[in-house]
Amino acid sequence: MMADNAGSSVMIEREPPKKAEKRKTDYDVIIIGAGPAGYTAGIYTSRARRNTLIISGILPGGQLMNTTEVENFPGFDSGIMGPDLMQIMKKQVERMGATIIQDEVVNVDFRHKPFKVLTASEEYEGKVIIICTGANPKKIGLDGEKTFAGKGVSSCATCDGAFFKNQDLVVVGGGDSAMEESTFLTKYASSIHLVHRRDEFRASKIMQERALSNEKIKVHFNSVVEEIQGEQKVEKVILNNIETGDKTTLEVGGVFIAIGHDPNTTLFKNQVDLDENGYVVLHENTQTSIPGVFCAGDVHDHRYRQAITAAGFGCMAAIDADKYMSEHE
Ligand code: NAP
Repeated sequence: MMADNAGSSVMIEREPPKKAEKRKTDYDVIIIGAGPAGYTAGIYTSRARRNTLIISGILPGGQLMNTTEVENFPGFDSGIMGPDLMQIMKKQVERMGATIIQDEVVNVDFRHKPFKVLTASEEYEGKVIIICTGANPKKIGLDGEKTFAGKGVSSCATCDGAFFKNQDLVVVGGGDSAMEESTFLTKYASSIHLVHRRDEFRASKIMQERALSNEKIKVHFNSVVEEIQGEQKVEKVILNNIETGDKTTLEVGGVFIAIGHDPNTTLFKNQVDLDENGYVVLHENTQTSIPGVFCAGDVHDHRYRQAITAAGFGCMAAIDADKYMSEHE
């Protein structure tokens, strides 16, 4: 079929195309992020009859989507796969009435009320906000970290340590996390190779002493993991001593990367107070520096970092948010 004016010499004046305007939608509560903290917050605010929107990001579910079996989340006596747990939480929050949108937040404005949350195509307004964007474990940047994720490479000793009974393991890092994870893993593992890129640790003295006095832990200073190898799962790690250039092959069943986390707070710079490592600072209970903007989970919590603690913080933030709305209605 030809276009209406095809072949016609008559010029039809058309209005210039309007600049696409973002649609506005109002909610009582906007939750940014859909890990255990975000979903739990959504369950509580929805049950409190607050019109709730969860903007989940492009890949909803948080860190548990990259996890295999979860054995330490109460209620699942035989364990549960991380993605299955998140699917159940999603269904539960939907049943409570929350709206979930799988989109990426590109900007926020918390300077005026109602607060604004923008995606590429929409502008949402919320009476309160709950930030639940989580944190990502830092990676060394080796191919093997991807290939063997959930097959011997882990970033959480508390979550995965019990799967490595009587095995030799590598822990990478020189901070408090590396000391803590190494010490914790000695409960299960036969031995730990603690690999640090410098000749002194960054960790606090007491945590260092605890790790160094444990005879199961052997320290490799000035060393980096150059390669992680194996067939179906981790079998070997190649260490490079960066002082001498010597390479060592360690036969191990697992590699724990404990080199810190990056909180997902780029969006919130200049909006709420962040600490020197980029974590959201809580002021009163779960409230951020902006009254009406709350926060839950690993995005503020660098201490516990567990699915269950994130869920607990989500519950707390939802209760605080509901109370705030009741007091400001
Ligand atoms: P961190 O203090 O930033 O230490 C990260 C460690 O990983 C450093 O030793 C760093 O080496 C090393 N590293 C960083 N990037 C690396 C890379 N690409 N390759 C190899 N090594 C790399 O992180 P954290 O240990 O997770 O601690 C974060 C915060 O939580 C700290 O404030 C810590 O005190 C706190 N924390 C407290 C406890 C506790 O009190 N129980 C437990 C855990 C964490 P360099 O030293 O060379 O930079």
